[in-house]
Amino acid sequence: MELADRLNRLGTETAFKVSEVAAQWASQGHTVYPFHLGDIDLPTPGRIVAAMDRAIADGHTGYCPGAGITPLREAIANDVNTKRGTSYTVDNVTIQPGGKPVITKFLQTVMNPGDEVLFPNPGFPIYESQIEYLGGVGRPYRFVPSQSGFALDLDHLRSQVTARTRAIIYNDLHNPTGADSTEAEREAVAQLALENDLWVLSDEAYFEVRYSGQSKSIASLAGMAERTVILYTFSKRFAMTGWRLGAGITPPPLTDWFSRLNTNNESCTTHFVQYAGLAALQDAEAEIGQIRSTLQARRDAAYAELSTTPGITLTKPETTFYLFPEVSEAMRMVNSGDLADFADRALRETGCSFCTRNHFGRPLSGEDRRYIRLAYSGLSAQAISEGLGRLRNWIGSAS
Ligand code: PMP
Repeated sequence: MELADRLNRLGTETAFKVSEVAAQWASQGHTVYPFHLGDIDLPTPGRIVAAMDRAIADGHTGYCPGAGITPLREAIANDVNTKRGTSYTVDNVTIQPGGKPVITKFLQTVMNPGDEVLFPNPGFPIYESQIEYLGGVGRPYRFVPSQSGFALDLDHLRSQVTARTRAIIYNDLHNPTGADSTEAEREAVAQLALENDLWVLSDEAYFEVRYSGQSKSIASLAGMAERTVILYTFSKRFAMTGWRLGAGITPPPLTDWFSRLNTNNESCTTHFVQYAGLAALQDAEAEIGQIRSTLQARRDAAYAELSTTPGITLTKPETTFYLFPEVSEAMRMVNSGDLADFADRALRETGCSFCTRNHFGRPLSGEDRRYIRLAYSGLSAQAISEGLGRLRNWIGSAS
């Protein structure tokens, strides 16, 4: 029996593979410090859990409209407008089972087979997977190290545009580098979209995970709301990754299609979970401060260790919960020729499990620096210091 050809074009999140290797190492009795997975080990705030329990007791256990319950759609429109200075209404919002489905639905609604879509590399691997699975052609654009972390290589980005380019995926507050755009960079991306009549997917999964400064959305720039889809999610902000609750913020013609795709795919996002989302937004700042300060303490603990580790250079991002250090020199010190070998030996020698740059897209030609990605959201500050202290000793003792 033959399977569909398109499966040959379906990628995955290879970070989950790293989890398997780490779990296997742990099952042999070794201590593992899990820096590989972008998940949060903090519990979802109790009042959000209670709201879901109430919704079940109140009988919200049947289907609801495909686009989601109206009060939640309204609350999300308000939340987006307050934080981004936009003017969305309920007609711009469809509730989704997480942020991730917005990537697929965006491509399903704006991209024809053979169309080209620009995507960040390194970047969240699902972009390229879904572009290709749905018959499009992915065109990667790259980053260059900058004073504050990483900047888009705007010349490279512009050089990737052709007559077939239909859309750009833009992940300001970026996984895996932790970088966020400057005002000028965001404007340059908007300009590119306007000049070339591109749709934009603005992946704002980490919009509220910020320790200083203020997040901004490309959708708030002149002329952009009508061509931009925002990926909105409860996952990181409220420690709700497993609940699967998010939304697509879309210009009107797309909202109806997103809604129809919901009807075709999942009928609706889990009904009672939507009431939990509503409770979360009714007092959105209640626990965010707590979650944010816990993550910030973890970032500082991780940065303190890594910035004093020989052979490692990094900046301290103000957004997301990732660090993306350059390890080229550390690899030379421990006599490691490639990133997979470095990560494997680091696990065995120190218990630190992490992803590398290669988990976030195929390296582009001319890349000569080697990077790893550490998520500090799933370990206590103490475990972070302990694990990365071991990493420092391993590298240090090899020099
Ligand atoms: N976009 C980015 C950049 C992410 O890192 C993630 C999750 N790791 C997602 C989207 C998906 O988020 P969700 O859990 O809401 O589907």
